[in-house]
Amino acid sequence: MEQYNKEDLIRLLSSQGNDYKMLMKRALETKKLHIGNTIYLRGLIEYSNICRKNCFYCGVRKDNKIVRYQLSDEEVYQCADMAMELGYGSLAIQSGERNDREFTDKITELVFNIKQRSNNKLGITLSCGEQKEEVYKEWFDAGAHRYLLRIESSTPSLYYKIHPQTKEHDFETRLNAVYSLLSLGYQVGTGVMIGLPFQTIEHLADDLLFFKKLNVAMVGMGPFIPHPDTPLWQYHTQIPDDRTRLQLTMKMIACLRLMMPKINMVAATANQTLAEDGREQAVLAGANIIMPNLTPTKYREQYLIYPDKACVGDKPNECRNCLYGRMKKIGHEIGYNLWGDSQAFLSQSED
Ligand code: SAH
Ligand code: SF4
Repeated sequence: MEQYNKEDLIRLLSSQGNDYKMLMKRALETKKLHIGNTIYLRGLIEYSNICRKNCFYCGVRKDNKIVRYQLSDEEVYQCADMAMELGYGSLAIQSGERNDREFTDKITELVFNIKQRSNNKLGITLSCGEQKEEVYKEWFDAGAHRYLLRIESSTPSLYYKIHPQTKEHDFETRLNAVYSLLSLGYQVGTGVMIGLPFQTIEHLADDLLFFKKLNVAMVGMGPFIPHPDTPLWQYHTQIPDDRTRLQLTMKMIACLRLMMPKINMVAATANQTLAEDGREQAVLAGANIIMPNLTPTKYREQYLIYPDKACVGDKPNECRNCLYGRMKKIGHEIGYNLWGDSQAFLSQSED
């Protein structure tokens, strides 16, 4: 495992041309050596776009006048059955943030019932925002074993430029939520958006060092996609262009693969908004997880966290075949019917 300091990372994140190619090559070799060329899937359920928060970048922020939905229990179970049928070994349930009891109890019930229904065959990742430690514990006890909570930026001053200054958007609270998840025994994933207004290479280098310091098991990073109905849209002409943001994302993934060879890293769908082969590029830069969408098609248009989301109209079966072909083409295979836990997490638990 390579040790990098901030200066090394700034240099790597600035690489162009042959240096860029060399970085990608080293990251791919490192991935293959430590965790192989298998891609694990998390069938994504976009459970609800009802959200109590007003993040400046997100299309489903509370103040946006959009049609709000929440899947029925039956719809969630149908997604779970579909995941089983398609051989996706895990589910990821993502949602706008709510912390009322009705919502948190519902998630507990859904998690518990999916575990029962699938005979414990489906692994469950949750991504339902910041919650009290008791709630995270309830969800863990019900059977969720992985949790994604992106820190969005590990630099508080940047965090506060992309969130309103209200008590619902407190950096320390978010950070403490990540610590709670770690202490409860979840496989914890965090991450950041790349190419945000006001974000510098130094911020990104600090983000990488932050992931390393927290020793997280998973990371999900993706390019920032400006949404016209959000406060950050006003800066959209000031951020790096699509190609540069995508390349910067690849450099972040590659650097982190060198720093943390065994973690799980997501090839985010947002990459595909910027380039048709965006997810493949991410896999070749070191990512090993893909989250194919299982949300019923009629709701997907309402979960537009960012615009021009890829695959919004795809049927689950088309998506499965498409992914298989895309991965095969770049020399990767798919680990069907497997949870695909983080090797970084598993090897630590053995210690
Ligand atoms: N509400 C939960 C989970 C859903 S949002 C939460 O916020 O943690 C999931 C992720 O979408 C966020 O963490 C954010 O990093 C990402 N996201 C939101 N708006 C985005 C945008 N405009 N471009 C790219 N990613 C975005
Ligand atoms: Fe809500 Fe998550 Fe969007 Fe923030 S990023 S507004 S918490 S859905």
